[in-house]
Amino acid sequence: MAVASPRSTDMTDEQRAITEMVHQFADEQIIPNAEHYDHEDEFPEAIVEQMKELGLFGVTIPEEYGGMGLDLTTYAMIVEELSRGWISISGIVNTHFIGSYLLMKFGTDEQKERFLPRMSTGELRASFSLSEPEVGSDVQGLKSTARKLDNGVWEINGQKMWVTNGLMSGVCFVLVKTDPKAEPPHRGMTCFLAEKEPGAHENTGDWAGFSVPPKIRKMGYKGVESTELIFDGYRCPAENILGGESAGVGKGFAQMMDALEVGRVNVASRGVGIAQRALELALRYSQERKTFGKPIAQHQAIQFKLADMATKIDAARLLTLRAARLKDAGERSDLEAGMAKLFASEAGKECVEDSFRIHGGYGYSKEYEIERLYRDAPLLLIGEGTSEIQRMVIGRKLLDRHKI
Ligand SMILES: Cc1cc2nc3c(=O)[nH]c(=O)nc-3n(C[C@H](O)[C@H](O)[C@H](O)COP(=O)(O)OP(=O)(O)OC[C@H]3O[C@@H](n4cnc5c(N)ncnc54)[C@H](O)[C@@H]3O)c2cc1C
Repeated sequence: MAVASPRSTDMTDEQRAITEMVHQFADEQIIPNAEHYDHEDEFPEAIVEQMKELGLFGVTIPEEYGGMGLDLTTYAMIVEELSRGWISISGIVNTHFIGSYLLMKFGTDEQKERFLPRMSTGELRASFSLSEPEVGSDVQGLKSTARKLDNGVWEINGQKMWVTNGLMSGVCFVLVKTDPKAEPPHRGMTCFLAEKEPGAHENTGDWAGFSVPPKIRKMGYKGVESTELIFDGYRCPAENILGGESAGVGKGFAQMMDALEVGRVNVASRGVGIAQRALELALRYSQERKTFGKPIAQHQAIQFKLADMATKIDAARLLTLRAARLKDAGERSDLEAGMAKLFASEAGKECVEDSFRIHGGYGYSKEYEIERLYRDAPLLLIGEGTSEIQRMVIGRKLLDRHKI
């Protein structure tokens, strides 16, 4: 069931055409197949192949590298549509998008030429790794290291955690300490482009020392794998330091934090997409299901839920697009991206819960799509910074902008 949304009023013709195309793709290819892949926790290879053909891995990559060269706002609209289908699909694109953003903003010309053309087709996909078993929110506390060997090559050691696309990616943007004694610690952190064989648990040859343990078993967000990564004497050439050795060593923290800002817009779009789908399911079910002689949609308590859901979705979408548009205009958007991520991810969870309640007992059954959404939505409260961390970011930025 399509639900009209006000977003269509302020789209360019190009944005309308591409979001309609992705909306249809979600209706025809993602939604009918998500239950199977979710149930089997299987990587949705066939869907990914079609996404490659549609060019969805190169949306924001400049045309000179084979991408579509579209802006963050258009990307946010696309992610909403993919997430309306299944957030795991947007998860496959998300870390790839962050990797391409890092390359476009900080990469050397040689790095851009080497990686971006294959990334724009989806032939090479990217993952993004900050978290470790003992470190999530407090990124500066990470323990993995890289040290320069006598032959100029860097050796990476350490364990990473929760890497989305950790197995299927061919390059991982990994943040490690190159100066563990640096004070403050962020000055001693560097981002490496760690290359590997997609799908291989044990890498060999040039990439030996990089292994990927079996995927982590999760409550939701299935299909796309989340893994640990083990670096044990992995050798990385200096040319794979993001931005090059002279410009990139010690700059990794700032680079990754910059990327997280666009990552937050991305997660916000996912919140809008899952909430939108939850509303569609609730609108349909509430008009079909009858209690006390009438469709439950005729009970005021249910209408109030629907009203709250639709209002939150519009507000979340507007916040998300505002943050994206500011970024596209080259203006500061850190505060706005944090607000969008906080509000839209919470709205996503709340709308899914309301839709679940509207489904009554059937919402608890695996026969109904809302059951999957109910397991998927909580991830949005955690990825790219928890809601608590967003509030810290928002509070700090507010004080920063309103110093007395
Ligand atoms: C499915 C999945 C996929 C992921 N994908 C990736 C990925 O691709 N790459 C990657 O690098 N990471 C990834 N992550 C990791 C994710 O970014 C972290 O889980 C997240 O940042 C939170 O870190 P943590 O789990 O260590 O929680 P912790 O940092 O240990 O926090 C635990 C709790 O304490 C709260 N808290 C922490 N510090 C404060 C504070 N100062 N004040 C108030 N409250 C606080 C947190 O909000 C949270 O409620 C993924 C996680 C999941 C679950």
